[in-house]
Amino acid sequence: MPVKQSTGTQLEELSARIVAIERRLSSRGTNGSERHGAEKFNSYCSQPEVAEMKFGPEVSDQRARLIRVMSKKWLNGTVLHYFFFDGGLMGTTGAEKDVVRRAFDMWKDLGIGLEFKEVGSRNDSEIRIGFLRGDGAWSYLGRDVLNQGKNERTMNFGWDLTSHPGEIDTALHEIGHTLGFPHEHQNPFAGIVWDEEAVYAALAAAPNFWDRDTTFRNILRKIAPDTIEGSEWDPDSIMHYPFGAGLIQAPEQYRNGLRPEDGLSGKDIEQAKHFYPTREEVYPELKPFQAALLTLGPGEQINFAVNPESTRRYRFQTFGDTDTVMVLFEERDGEFRYVKGDDDSGTDRNASFRVRLREGVRYVLRIRLYWNFSSGDTAVMMW
Ligand SMILES: [Zn+2]
Repeated sequence: MPVKQSTGTQLEELSARIVAIERRLSSRGTNGSERHGAEKFNSYCSQPEVAEMKFGPEVSDQRARLIRVMSKKWLNGTVLHYFFFDGGLMGTTGAEKDVVRRAFDMWKDLGIGLEFKEVGSRNDSEIRIGFLRGDGAWSYLGRDVLNQGKNERTMNFGWDLTSHPGEIDTALHEIGHTLGFPHEHQNPFAGIVWDEEAVYAALAAAPNFWDRDTTFRNILRKIAPDTIEGSEWDPDSIMHYPFGAGLIQAPEQYRNGLRPEDGLSGKDIEQAKHFYPTREEVYPELKPFQAALLTLGPGEQINFAVNPESTRRYRFQTFGDTDTVMVLFEERDGEFRYVKGDDDSGTDRNASFRVRLREGVRYVLRIRLYWNFSSGDTAVMMW
């Protein structure tokens, strides 16, 4: 699992946010757009800081690279439940919620294997969406949302999403983070040469009022090359900010500004389908005491149907030298809900858990391989 933040870091993050909110609310820049209104100003998305995964010296660079690429992504087939804060400071009008709902539908309509479902209770949700004005637009990255408390937001929209038809792109962008996609302008292969002081100065002003650290973290810092799959820079990505003139020195054609195309780019769609391909509907069945071989490449996933013939506790375990994430889902009211999971990435042990299964209930076991570091067979078994 991603490394949790220490309480100290969370408090620092929180107090920095409160200060920033107060500054934004006392200015006129409390509404704006991340990707629109570039002529005047841009309000940018500021992602919350989460500690990087650290590995021991026994974990090779290549192994660490694959773990970092995969660790924020969801297991394909996961149903992600989203909840809107209602009323109070966090709440909003129905029209704004509709913009977010449409953005979820647009990602889903690409034909990806994830499902999105709105729920009325925060306890049933993985994604909790607030509309706290002045707090900017942001989302945690992929599975990091699971590390947030049930009363916490995992995504926020700090300005009115109905103020401009193009605000659907802000919703698409934040959902992109929730699906595990980082900022494209921080792609180390982008080759952007910044006028760094101009960037710091632009972001320190309205409507963002970012301190230097926030600007560095969200714009100037290159994402470590080993967390990016593929290398091609996509300036039209929904995960790319627009930039005004004078911030980019090179490539030369962006000196007068860079404005991504509206909507999801071809590469956004390709990446989404790569990590979350359409699901096959019939899974092979995993039966007690019968090992099933895992012939997976890095990043690939296999799904098994589990139909227990008696109600009792079972153990699930992978075998062989692998890094895997293994999660069991139970069918409830026609959809699969998380029951139990384990992630052995970056460790010597194997993914394993015990869980009580009920006869007559249908389960699905999903296994995503990060890394297979021997040529020997790997397998999964339940007993
Ligand atoms: Zn963002």
